Amino acid sequence: MKDSELRFNLFRIAALALGLTISATSVHAGDPIPAKQLFGAAKLPTRSDPESLGFYAKGCLAGGMAIPADGPTWQVLHPSRNRRWGNPRMISLLERLSREAHAEDGWNGLLLGDISQPRGGPMLTGHASHQIGLDADIWLTPMPNRRLSYQERDDFPENSVLRRGTLYVDPNKWTQSHANLIMRAASYPQVERVFVHPGIKKKLCESWEGNRSLLSKVRPIYGHHYHFHIRMKCPPGQAGCEDQVNPPDDSGCGKPLAEWFDRLKPRPAKKPEKKPVKPTKPTYLTLKSLPNACTAVLNGRSVTSMAAAEYGAPAHADDVTPVTETAFASPQTADATAFRAIEDFSDLVPKGVIPVPAERP
Ligand SMILES: [Zn+2]
Repeated sequence: MKDSELRFNLFRIAALALGLTISATSVHAGDPIPAKQLFGAAKLPTRSDPESLGFYAKGCLAGGMAIPADGPTWQVLHPSRNRRWGNPRMISLLERLSREAHAEDGWNGLLLGDISQPRGGPMLTGHASHQIGLDADIWLTPMPNRRLSYQERDDFPENSVLRRGTLYVDPNKWTQSHANLIMRAASYPQVERVFVHPGIKKKLCESWEGNRSLLSKVRPIYGHHYHFHIRMKCPPGQAGCEDQVNPPDDSGCGKPLAEWFDRLKPRPAKKPEKKPVKPTKPTYLTLKSLPNACTAVLNGRSVTSMAAAEYGAPAHADDVTPVTETAFASPQTADATAFRAIEDFSDLVPKGVIPVPAERP
C-alpha cells in the first residue's frame, strides 16, 4: 500500500470510529484493509433491525444491543474492550441466566466477559469467534458484593478452577454452583453449545446428576478454565445467520474426551528442524471473506449514543437527547493489542466444517 493510500485508509478508520458515514469514509467490499481493523474501530452499532450475519467466526452484527455495565445480578468485565454488544436475544438470555443463577444456583451474580464488538466482526485481539453477537463468555468467579471499579474490571484476575499444573478440576475450587450454572446454560433450548475446559467436562461427566442428555451440548475446548462460553443458535427469521451443525447426540464423555486429555498431555519439546522454515505471509480476513451485508453494516448509520442501544433503554431511545457517554464508553485504548489472546478456536476445529480465520498476523 502506498503512503498516500495508507494515510487515507487510516483517515477512514478514524472517521468510522466517530460514526461518520460521509461517502469519503465508506468502505467497499474490495477493501484491502484487514476487517478486524475496520470492525475494531466501530464504537457504536448500526441503527437498524438486529440481525446476526454470517458465521460465528466469519460475520458481523447489525442493530447490536449492549448489556448495561451493571445489572441487579451482573457486572461486565473489561470495559475498555467495548465488547458488551450482542444480538438482543443474547443480551436477554444473559440477563435471564444471571437472574436464575442468583435465584436458584447459589450465585451472588455473574461476571460477564466478552460478547461482541458494536458491529460484531473480527477483532484486533483475542477471539476467532464472537463475531455475530451470539457468543458470550461468563466467568467462573462469582460477582463480588460490591461494584468493581473500571480499572478492577479491566484487570480482573483469571481464577482457574483447575488444580495448579494439572488438567483436572481442583476440589477446593469447584462447587456444585459451578456445575449448576454451566448445566443451566446448556438447558436453554436456544443455546447450541457451551464450551468448557476438558477438565470441567470430565468433572461434569463424573458427577452431574441432573438431565445427562444435556451433556452433549457441553463441549471441551482449550482454555475455558476461568470462564466458560455460551453459543446461541441463530435466532429464528434471521436468514443471513449461518448455524453450526448440531453437536453429536452422545454425552461426549467417552472417547472424544479421552482424546482431549491425550492432546493436552505434556510432550517433550521437539528438536528444531534443520531446514530453514520459509516465512509465511500473514493472512487475515478482509471484507471479501465476510458476507456482503457486512460491508453495509460498516457503512450503516450509527445510533446516537451507547445508552440509546442498551438493554432496557426506553422504546425509540434514538429519539431521546444523546446522553453523555458513561465511563464504559471510553474509547478502546491504543494499546489494545497488549491484551493477550484469551482464546482461539482456529487450530482445533475440523477444517471444512467451520470457517475459521487464519492465525493473527
Ligand atoms: Zn468465548
